[in-house]
Amino acid sequence: IVLVVVIFVLGLALGQPVQEMLLTAVSLAVAAIPEALTAVVTIALSLGAQRMLQRKALIRQLHAVETLGSVTVICSDKTGTLTQNRMSVTALDIANHSLELQQPEDAAGMRLVRVNGPLAGAEPGDDLLPTLDLLLVAGTLCNDAVLESSEHMQHEAGQVVAGAGHWYAVGDPTEGAIVLAAAEYGVLKPELEKAFPRIDELPFDSTRKRMTTVHTVPADEAEIPAGLLPVWERRVRVDNASHIAFTKGAVDSLLEVAGSVWIEDKQVALDDERRRRIMEANNRLAAQGKRVLGVAVRTLDHAPSKQEVKEIESDLILVGLYGMIDPPRPEVRDAVLTCRSAGIRPVMITGDHPLTARHIAQQVGITDPRPGEEAPFLTGMEIDALTPEELRARARDVQVFARVSPEHKLSLIEIYQEQGNIVAMTGDGVNDAPALKKADIGVAMGITGTDVSKEAANMVLLDDNFATIVAAVEEGRVVYDNIRKFIQYLLTCNASEIAVMLLWPLAAWLFGISLGTATIALLPLQILWMNLVTDGLPALALGVEKAERNVMRRPPYSSEESIFGRGMLPF
Ligand code: ADP
Ligand code: MG
Repeated sequence: IVLVVVIFVLGLALGQPVQEMLLTAVSLAVAAIPEALTAVVTIALSLGAQRMLQRKALIRQLHAVETLGSVTVICSDKTGTLTQNRMSVTALDIANHSLELQQPEDAAGMRLVRVNGPLAGAEPGDDLLPTLDLLLVAGTLCNDAVLESSEHMQHEAGQVVAGAGHWYAVGDPTEGAIVLAAAEYGVLKPELEKAFPRIDELPFDSTRKRMTTVHTVPADEAEIPAGLLPVWERRVRVDNASHIAFTKGAVDSLLEVAGSVWIEDKQVALDDERRRRIMEANNRLAAQGKRVLGVAVRTLDHAPSKQEVKEIESDLILVGLYGMIDPPRPEVRDAVLTCRSAGIRPVMITGDHPLTARHIAQQVGITDPRPGEEAPFLTGMEIDALTPEELRARARDVQVFARVSPEHKLSLIEIYQEQGNIVAMTGDGVNDAPALKKADIGVAMGITGTDVSKEAANMVLLDDNFATIVAAVEEGRVVYDNIRKFIQYLLTCNASEIAVMLLWPLAAWLFGISLGTATIALLPLQILWMNLVTDGLPALALGVEKAERNVMRRPPYSSEESIFGRGMLPF
């Protein structure tokens, strides 16, 4: 505007008519102001959002497209995001025995073998079968997954599904795996539920990390499934129980509320030695990258009231452990490598066991310890014990956070942001909403996420995949680059128009040349025409430029930098 005024005054000084100079000044102002900017930015962002959608990232707020480009830390869940969420039970641990489910080479189906003790490699003997049954029954009843026969599925899908086995499960993959494992051994959920109707429950939440269901015990002994006979004989009948409660959850969380353990068909007090063995079994399975869940049982002599149900998780009898594998998603390793080369820090934040977390983190390349060393991790309890300063220091080198609850996610985001990071954080549960809001980019899960988490998020992953976050970051960087490109273009274009308009009469005035009628370099109409053809469309074209080759091979630009930074203007 100052330059426009200068040109106006200069023109008058050189004897141009006021009316003509006024027209020139106005059209020059029109040319100098990049009025296409807002439109082009919006279009670039929308096109970016569209490209992200093609790569399975749904953007809920347009500005997130630009923020994505400067993300420096991606905090991701483990289950389902880094892994496939295709659980299958491969190990059981009961009554001081570890059993493994092995797939025989020749036949379909699974076979149980012992992996420790004198009979290692052998099938579990009759001595273990009742406890094994109890484990399967408890895991199946304390479960929200639905077992369906694959005949039914074939019928529904209208085609034959080859090799699908006899059953499939609908619901949470963790729970489905248990229901399916039990079905392999003839423990069928629909039949069990008929005999033991569920009358109440305490649903799973990611802070307690366990869930409980309460069932009525059938009066008729004939209806008791074989698996429950030992408990029925030794507890239900002894206690004259009318109801039975099953709890399933993380082993450490179960040990907090268990008072005894079921060994050799008996309830045995849970002393330090037994606790240690259970923790050991838990750690051994977790160190192999398995997700571990324990189940426990408790009898009741009356139907619990609402209040009693809230306090039902105490003095439980621990039955055993399930160990399940959940293979990493194959594409995640490359995505993590891309993060690395793009200067983005991948961080795993999970509710799962730290050893499971560490194993998977190493498998997908989030941590890369030297041979013989193990990557560090922090658990939720350790985080609580640290002072904020200590946590700030640890957050710089730890990339695996395990057994965390949603509140820990919040404090981690705060710390990363204090350290100048732009944080993307995933979340699926209702409790994750505050963290999703607090993060610069809240990422919700399209398949497994709750509606509340999706509402709170800036972006929804349609395929729940970590690699999709990285793809979205890449698109975000392209959009940011393109916005800079056309701003640079618009500025140079407009600046040169002004330069021509200014320098021409200035030179004339300085050198005392008489320009006559040609005092103005460009007529108002010429200026407007140039503006029309040069401002909009070429800028738009720059807005849809393809990615530069090095978009994901350079560190993120600082979020503090001005849009004119890095040599766009000499200042
Ligand atoms: P993440 O999704 O990060 O793996 P979760 O909060 O889902 O963590 O699970 C944390 C722990 O809670 C798991 O390690 C498991 O032991 C237990 N858990 C998970 N799902 C269930 C469930 N449906 N019922 C009981 N316990 C569960
Ligand atoms: Mg989960």
